[in-house]
Amino acid sequence: MAASAYDLIVIGSGPGGYIAAIRAAQLGLHVACVEKDSTLGGTCLNIGCIPSKALLESSERYHQASHDFAAHGIQVSGLGLDLAKMMTRKDGIVRALTRGVGSLFKKHKITSVTGMARFSAPDRVEIAGAAPQTLTAQHILIATGSAPVELPMARFDGRRIVSSTEALALPAVPKRLIVIGGGAIGLEMGSVWSRLGAEVLIVEMLDRIAPGMDQQMGTMLLRALQRQGLQFQLGTTLKSAAADADGVTVGLSGPKGASEERGDVLLVAVGRRPFTDGLGLETIGLTLDQRGRIPVDAHYATSVPGVYAIGDVIPGLMLAHKAEDEGVAAAENIAGLPGHVNYDAIPNVVYTAPEFASVGLSEEEAKSRGIAVRIGSFPYTANGRARSIGETEGGVKVIADATTDRVLGIHIVGPHASDVIAEAALAIEFAASSEDIGRTVHAHPTLAEALKEAALAVDGRPLNL
Ligand code: FAD
Repeated sequence: MAASAYDLIVIGSGPGGYIAAIRAAQLGLHVACVEKDSTLGGTCLNIGCIPSKALLESSERYHQASHDFAAHGIQVSGLGLDLAKMMTRKDGIVRALTRGVGSLFKKHKITSVTGMARFSAPDRVEIAGAAPQTLTAQHILIATGSAPVELPMARFDGRRIVSSTEALALPAVPKRLIVIGGGAIGLEMGSVWSRLGAEVLIVEMLDRIAPGMDQQMGTMLLRALQRQGLQFQLGTTLKSAAADADGVTVGLSGPKGASEERGDVLLVAVGRRPFTDGLGLETIGLTLDQRGRIPVDAHYATSVPGVYAIGDVIPGLMLAHKAEDEGVAAAENIAGLPGHVNYDAIPNVVYTAPEFASVGLSEEEAKSRGIAVRIGSFPYTANGRARSIGETEGGVKVIADATTDRVLGIHIVGPHASDVIAEAALAIEFAASSEDIGRTVHAHPTLAEALKEAALAVDGRPLNL
C-alpha cells in the first residue's frame, strides 16, 4: 500500500492537535490530523470543558430559579427539572462544536483521518481502523492528551464508581454523590449535581481545595461552596470502595481516623494521566519521564528528530488553552518561525459559583521564591455591579513585586472571574505594574473595576473601600 506523504501529521484532534493543524495549514504546510475517536475535538469538546460548562450553566440557572429569583421580585411556580432535556441540550452543543472542527479542517484543506495511529518509524504512522493506511510526514506532532487516573481501590465500573466522563451523563440526580478530589473537575461536577439536588461530599487528600492556586482565595471559595451546602472532608484519603446494587460504600481515613460514607455514586476525580497507550513510542525510541509524560525542549521537539509533542501529554498544567497555545507555537516552530508560550501568563479557572480564576504567582509561590511582595485586595461587596447582579461573594487579590511594582499574580473569586481574568493575563503578558492597572480607565459599573481597585489597594489607595 502506498503511503500518503505530508509535511505534518498531527496525532489527536483535541484543542492542542486541531489548533496546531490549523496553524500549520495557515502557514502553508500540507497537514493530516489523525483521531481515533469518531468525533473530533478531543477531551475538551467531547467529555471535558464544553459539556461540563453546558451543565454548569443549566444547573446554575435551575439553582437560581429555585433560590435567587425571589430576591429579584420574580415569583416562580411549577419549577421542575427535565434532566433528559438538559443532557440533550449539552449533547447538542458538543455535536455542533465537534462538527465545527470538521468544517475548519475542510476550510484549511487539512486531511482528517479516523483511526488509531501507531508509529512504525519516526516519519511514519500506521492507522488502524475502518480504513487502515500508512501515512508519512517530515514532521509528526503528538497531541494525544490524557485520560482519567484510576485508583486501584476504586476501579471505574461506569455506573457506581465513575470518572468525569460518566459524571457528565448520569441518568438521574443521585441522592448522595461522593467526589474524590477537590480540584477543578471535582468541584465543578460536585457543583452541578449539588445544584440539581444531590447531597454532595467532596473528599480531598490535601488540607485545601483547588491545589496549586492561591490558598487564601481557595479558602474563600471553600467557604462559599460550604454555604451552598457542599460538604467537604479535607486531609482525607480514600482507602476502599465497594459498589453494590444500590450504591457504593467508601472507607476513608482523615484527621479524626477511619470512617465510612455511603453514596449512590462515587466520582473519582483525582487527576488525569498523559495518554500514550498504543502509540508505539518504544518503536521510535522515545522514552517517557517518570510521570508518563513526553519530555520536550522549548520548541516542543522530543528527543527523536522530527517528532514533536504538546498539550496534556507533555509536562505542565492540563488545560485546553495551554494545549492550544502550544499547538500554535509548535506549528510555528515546525514552519521555521519562532513559536513561544509564556508559561507565566496562563490563566487557570475553576467554574464554580463564584468562579475562581488565577494567573501568575500565588502568594505562597512568590514567598517560596523569596520575592518580597505587596498585596492589594478588594471585595465584591464594594463593587456596584456585583451588588446589582446580587453576587457579592469573593474578591480580587493583586500580588505585585515590592521593589518594581510589576504584577506577579492576580487571583479572583467572584462572578464571571473567568472573563475578568483575561485582563489580568494581558497585564502579566505585558509586564504591567499595579500602577498601570490602577491608572487604566475601567467602564462603570463592571466587575473588572474590582481588579482596578485591588491594583490601587497594592499602594493602599482603593477608592471605594
Ligand atoms: P485531548 O483533548 O485529550 O485530545 C487528545 C485526542 O487524541 C483525543 O481525541 C484522543 O482520542 C486522541 N488520540 C489519543 N491517542 C491517539 C492515537 N494513538 N491515534 C489517534 N488519536 C489519538 N481545560 C480547560 O482549559 N478548561 C476547562 O474548563 C476544562 N474543563 C475540563 C472538564 C473536564 C470534565 C475534563 C475531563 C477536562 C477539562 N479540561 C479543561 C482539560 C482539557 O480538556 C484538556 O486539558 C485538553 O483537552 C487537552 O487537550 P489535548 O489536545 O492535549 O488532548
